[in-house]
Amino acid sequence: MPYELGPTLLSAERIAARVAELGAAITADYRGKTLFLVCVLKGSTIFWADLCRRIELPTVTDFCAVHCYGDGTDPSGALLLSHDLSLPIAGQEVLIVEDIVDTGRTLHLLRSHLLTRHPASLRICALLDKVERREVPVPLDYVGFAIPNEFVVGYGLDFAQQYRNLPYVATLKAT
Ligand code: 5GP
Repeated sequence: MPYELGPTLLSAERIAARVAELGAAITADYRGKTLFLVCVLKGSTIFWADLCRRIELPTVTDFCAVHCYGDGTDPSGALLLSHDLSLPIAGQEVLIVEDIVDTGRTLHLLRSHLLTRHPASLRICALLDKVERREVPVPLDYVGFAIPNEFVVGYGLDFAQQYRNLPYVATLKAT
């Protein structure tokens, strides 16, 4: 089915302002500590890059990826941790940086996996939250925006690996 870009949901200015607020809140909450950021590839890279520059703390970053055997706009397939962290997290203050929470399955898998490595703490920061789509409960400690149940692209989020470079978040609609 052909798709095209729909209306802008979140402008670059709104995103920047909210990311600054999230960075300030995280800075306050972890004052005096070193924060270990887990950036979930690939969709979270732009959010992580902006967020980490708004966190005024010593930080370490590592990357992981969860592959979903879904298709296009349907994320209902089986999940696999396709790229693991390269650094140990035992005893670290860990914050998962995620682009969007939909059913919650990705973060549930990742969170369960990371907890087995005994971090000192494990929290989640998600830019976008599709609250009404949740199937598996996941504790979200920092959320940028709650959004309606629409497929969105931009600011790191893709459709078939396209649109990640848009500086804003827009809906994708079938033509
Ligand atoms: P969940 O496991 O919470 O259902 O889905 C999380 C993952 O599904 C996200 O990391 C993202 O890769 C993908 N996803 C869910 N909703 C959207 C969306 O609206 N747009 C895009 N581009 N990806 C989405």
